[in-house]
Amino acid sequence: MSNALPWINEELEEIERRGLRRRRRMVEPLPGGRCRIDGREMWNFAGNDYLNLSQDPRVIAAAQQAAAEAGTGATASALICGRTQWHARLEEQLAEFEGTESALLFPTGFAANMGVIVAVVGREDAVFSDRLNHASLVDGCRLSKAALTIYDRKNLSALSEALSAASSVRRRLIVTDSIFSMDGDAAPLADLCELAEAHDAMLMIDEAHATGVFGAQGKGFAEFAGVEDRVHFRVGTLSKALGASGGFVSGSQSLIDWLWNRARPQIFSTALPPPVCAAAGAAVEIIRTEPQRRTELLQRCGDFRAALIAEGFATIEAAVAPIFPILLDDPQLAVRTAAALEERGFLVGAIRPPSVPPGTSRLRITLSWAHDQRVIEEFTTALRDVLRDVAPGS
Ligand SMILES: *Cc1c(COP(=O)(O)O)cnc(C)c1O
Repeated sequence: MSNALPWINEELEEIERRGLRRRRRMVEPLPGGRCRIDGREMWNFAGNDYLNLSQDPRVIAAAQQAAAEAGTGATASALICGRTQWHARLEEQLAEFEGTESALLFPTGFAANMGVIVAVVGREDAVFSDRLNHASLVDGCRLSKAALTIYDRKNLSALSEALSAASSVRRRLIVTDSIFSMDGDAAPLADLCELAEAHDAMLMIDEAHATGVFGAQGKGFAEFAGVEDRVHFRVGTLSKALGASGGFVSGSQSLIDWLWNRARPQIFSTALPPPVCAAAGAAVEIIRTEPQRRTELLQRCGDFRAALIAEGFATIEAAVAPIFPILLDDPQLAVRTAAALEERGFLVGAIRPPSVPPGTSRLRITLSWAHDQRVIEEFTTALRDVLRDVAPGS
């Protein structure tokens, strides 16, 4: 073998020096919003299982039954022979839940975002992407080869100008997270709809952190903002509030037919395992029939946000939940603070570049319906103590 790999260790040492090396750990999931790491049990304030559905006995039972009937894997792509009754039923259920003609499953939310963008714009087109969009949207934009404009949602007049400048290209596509995964704030959906309409552009939103959490029926932030009918492409994930895994797109029959024919991750990846589809289906049913979960979660999120602001922590006040950043800027400080919280029995995310822009390392705290008022209060106290000790002035 040639000696062509020393660069890997050199690069690893370099990211270690900058406090950016990530280490892999093993986490044991536990019911009730808890987990165990290295033998220590703690509250999990780092996951995205917002409604605690990954541990719901009904969801687990649905997966077990499907495994018994269908086996574990789908064995082929949906297009070949991987689309079973569990896939068909879930797609129907998702379309009904979303109030659209049709829906299409993808292996992951990441794949859904990439697949949709590449299927709807190309070299002749222009795409407009929020500067804090999720990596899957960023990569989809790059892969599409459409002319890319990065915009700042706090400066939509610049977006408007860029859209005007692209008036002669074949198609224009605006893409945005509806709830931003690291900041927890919401996209200005009504304004984006107006811009899309004024400039004859398509609008795609990623509801990864909003499905099941926002809206009277739990459909997401477009429902909450009253703009569902003005958004062309709505992508969601089964992996967060639904507690399963996979991605989906909902929309018109013609859109879904187009994606079925053209979205490459859906065509060339094996379909989701039937037990995963069954679990997601049971989760959708719970979201439909138990709205109190999301109302209680959002109520606690509101109280928690108020507490963070009252404590004077460096949070993002526009965060609408269930994601709460505490900005610590320095990556090593974020890691130390998270470690100190673990000592006290609370797991939070220590988020560093490249997941966030340089200089904006942070704790990322997420609430779950499994965290009751008392636990959240204990956590707030721990956070206050730890920030005072480890990161005074933050
Ligand atoms: C997690 C996430 C995704 C990817 O979803 P997966 O199903 O985990 O692949 C897409 N978009 C956003 C905003 C996310 O946070």
